[in-house]
Amino acid sequence: MKKEEIPALEDVRQEKETVWINPDKTDYKTSMEGAELSMADIEEAERRLLRFAPFIMQRFPETRESGGLIESELTPIPAMKAHLNEAYNSRLEGALFLKQDNRLAIAGSVKARGGIYEVLKHTEDLALGHGLLEPDGDYGDLAKEAARDFFGKYTIQVGSTGNLGMSIGIMGAAIGYKAIVHMSADAKQWKKDLLRRHGVTVMEYDSDYGKAVENGRRLSQQDENSYFVDDENSRNLFLGYAVAAKRLAGQLKAQEIPVDEEHPLFVYIPCGVGGAPGGISFGLKQVFKDDVHCFFTEPTQAPCMLAGMATGLHNEISVQDVGLSGLTHADGLAVSRPSGFVGRVMQPMLSGEFTVQDARLYDYMRDLLKTEEIFLEPSACAAFQGAAEIMKRRESVEYLEKNNLLERMEQATHIAWATGGSLVPENIREEYKKTYLPYK
Ligand SMILES: *Cc1c(COP(=O)(O)O)cnc(C)c1O
Repeated sequence: MKKEEIPALEDVRQEKETVWINPDKTDYKTSMEGAELSMADIEEAERRLLRFAPFIMQRFPETRESGGLIESELTPIPAMKAHLNEAYNSRLEGALFLKQDNRLAIAGSVKARGGIYEVLKHTEDLALGHGLLEPDGDYGDLAKEAARDFFGKYTIQVGSTGNLGMSIGIMGAAIGYKAIVHMSADAKQWKKDLLRRHGVTVMEYDSDYGKAVENGRRLSQQDENSYFVDDENSRNLFLGYAVAAKRLAGQLKAQEIPVDEEHPLFVYIPCGVGGAPGGISFGLKQVFKDDVHCFFTEPTQAPCMLAGMATGLHNEISVQDVGLSGLTHADGLAVSRPSGFVGRVMQPMLSGEFTVQDARLYDYMRDLLKTEEIFLEPSACAAFQGAAEIMKRRESVEYLEKNNLLERMEQATHIAWATGGSLVPENIREEYKKTYLPYK
């Protein structure tokens, strides 16, 4: 199909909410042929996080209860499901859950997975390489003053729309690095203020995320003691996110929720550049294989992954190329050009994408507050678009029919992946609650 014949892309151009079903999705086994990453890589990341747990517990006492692991709860939200069916005529069957990454320790967003993992990986490389740590040593020692002095000679830099910068900046500063965060114009003032309070250097740009990354990368390359976290291409970030999958499997088991051919799992994850939803989905595919169906959700003004995957152009297309502004209230998703690395990995795995207009994000936010008393930032609320639309749209219902899922929806589990919110200050929450945008 030529790209001008893809109906979802026509909707994208017209700034209309849409669903795109991925025609290139294969079965799990085929999708892994020639894959550069595997379950073994995820397990290695998991072990690394365990090694760092004593350090994390010391630096961040709020993680003591979880033994230094940064993980979120899986919460049933039946009242939100009922509300979606009543207010939006969603006809959603099965059980709806919220994966509360909004409450992840340290960074208050999904970025506490990938971002913190990458900082720790780099820290381990440096510490082992310079004899600061023995391979079987106590990682708690990295919290000592001598280690801080050592890391103070090194810099970590990242480009961010906000949340990635918070996770890298807070963790980087906690270890002792000089941390520099290059913030795009979309980044909220309170995120910059919070980082500065942690001793992080914030560089501000009046351009979009791509420019902030480009400049950050360039500056980092000029300093041999500087490490740049490359959101668009980083395998480490991706693997940090992927660790979520096995832990989720444990949580489902603990709540006696089956996932198998008779009990399909649907996951809806907000997407910016693609690392977080891509890494999590890749992990979920390793664990649940053909029984999990992963959907990304993006704002109608910045559906970069949809544009990249539907055209096959990946990072060679931007949302401006299809006539969109890239401007959205969903600051965590305000990305114009997708990760080519993630798009290619997801090409045979992703089930599809939903897009959502900004006005609806604030409504979903108020809906969740009213029905479940849980606050999410607007970006995270994009997850609900998948749950609200999957049984309503012709294209997604066809997907369910084709995959023999329609008759199994009553036994299905749906997870809206709540990607952020707990660090949003009270006064900003009040502003969000009063924000009503016109529907297009
Ligand atoms: C970063 C972010 C995402 C998406 O992650 P990407 O890796 O950019 O795709 C989703 N929601 C929130 C709140 C985020 O901060």
